[in-house]
Amino acid sequence: MLKFPGIKGLFFDEELLISKGVMGISIPCSGLNSSDLKKSGRAYIDKKFVRKKAPRLPEVSEPTVIRHFTRLSSWNMSVDSVFYPLGSCTMKYNPKINECIASLGNMKNLHPLTPDFLVQPALKIIHDFNLILCELTGLAEFGFAPQAGAAGEFSGLKIIRKYFDSNGESRKIILIPDSSHGTNPASSVLAGFTPVEIKTGKDGTLNVEDVKKYISKDVAGIMITNPNTFGIFEKDIKKISGIMHENGSLVYMDGANFNAFIGNVRISDMGIDMVQFNLHKTFSAPHGGGGPGSGAIGVADFLKKYLPVPYVSFSNARYKISEDKERTIGRIAPFLCNFAIIVRAYAYLLSLGRDNISSVSEIAILNANYIKKKLGKILKDSDPFEKGLCMHECVFNDAALEKSDISTVEFAKLLIDYGFHPPTIYFPKNIHGAIMIEPTETESVKTLDGFIKAVGAIKFKIKKLKAIKSPQKTKVGRVNEVLANKHPIFK
Ligand SMILES: *Cc1c(COP(=O)(O)O)cnc(C)c1O
Repeated sequence: MLKFPGIKGLFFDEELLISKGVMGISIPCSGLNSSDLKKSGRAYIDKKFVRKKAPRLPEVSEPTVIRHFTRLSSWNMSVDSVFYPLGSCTMKYNPKINECIASLGNMKNLHPLTPDFLVQPALKIIHDFNLILCELTGLAEFGFAPQAGAAGEFSGLKIIRKYFDSNGESRKIILIPDSSHGTNPASSVLAGFTPVEIKTGKDGTLNVEDVKKYISKDVAGIMITNPNTFGIFEKDIKKISGIMHENGSLVYMDGANFNAFIGNVRISDMGIDMVQFNLHKTFSAPHGGGGPGSGAIGVADFLKKYLPVPYVSFSNARYKISEDKERTIGRIAPFLCNFAIIVRAYAYLLSLGRDNISSVSEIAILNANYIKKKLGKILKDSDPFEKGLCMHECVFNDAALEKSDISTVEFAKLLIDYGFHPPTIYFPKNIHGAIMIEPTETESVKTLDGFIKAVGAIKFKIKKLKAIKSPQKTKVGRVNEVLANKHPIFK
């Protein structure tokens, strides 16, 4: 019989890590004693720099430290402990080989100001990773300065701005479908544009005729999340790109959902001028908790000269950190890139190999459709796009839950007691009580079946759920999320 991972207990209490008089490591003796420091005329350290009191450092043994943090880590759900189907986030399992490679001394100990000629292998990694991305996408060059997906969007929009400035035009509008990620309008505003929303059709995709209605000489570009936040591929993307180009506008694709077609569709074949990838999603660098990330920004040939600097160039058999981009948008990060993230993404691609990359997106799509079909039967009349197939994620509304007297948030919290991280909820905002599930390719059918069974159990077996405040089996139960967000206490 299929069992839920569940939560049975075994949570330890954990006190603050305060102790005195215990040594964690033995530091070798310096050979000096304190009287040496005081000898007149022989001060090793100027008196004003000598502490009067010992520093207030924790004095703890190694097992105490290990147990403290291991226990704390068990209070939380993570991709390494449970199924984590957070829609629009691609919480895939991150292979540990990536960590091993990124932790090698000659990777992790590099200083960002080390001269080029001493870090040739590191620069080669960045350079070669760019070549692989270009081959996967058909685009001309990637910039790695942006340190998150939204920072990639912002850089792309700065490029659009500079492109029109160079052409003596001051177009102001960026068209954004209502199925786009929330960061898209936000990035547009930050880059000085006016976002204009386009409504999607009943099938969850953009209608070509609708797009045409918004075309004017003030349209700088369109920003399309593809697959969109309903988890659906924009089937007319090529036509839409054509319409934009005819108008002299640019086409930006939010490619954070590249997991849905990596290895199977080339970005350039869709007429896209610019894309950002979230290396911390598709390319299996860990994410959550605020970073670090990498929002690599890729462009077509005619936009290469606008990419951020510095970047890695290659000439005369040498890799160089270069600044010479004719119309660069400039610096958008202090150094070259989040190098350790690039290393993980590069290791991920090399360990998959060219032949296996396409199976990433194939299995991601298969898993999402498996959930869509099976949950569609349990959550009746809740799939707004029941007829079609989805890409890497599927979305439900709360029609069936409402009948069972459960709100989406109660449903999400209940899943925790069954041992599953909740899906994304109430997003996209235009789906009532949305539940957005992205299983990713790293989950087995057994895990998916367990999840589906848990949803069934919640829907059918538990009535009067309003009285229950889940999660009940976790270390910390239901928290006041609004209060926690407005008044976070970090100590
Ligand atoms: C996650 C995501 C983003 C934002 O990426 P960050 O790294 O969190 O800034 C943008 N667009 C889409 C479609 C996403 O899924």
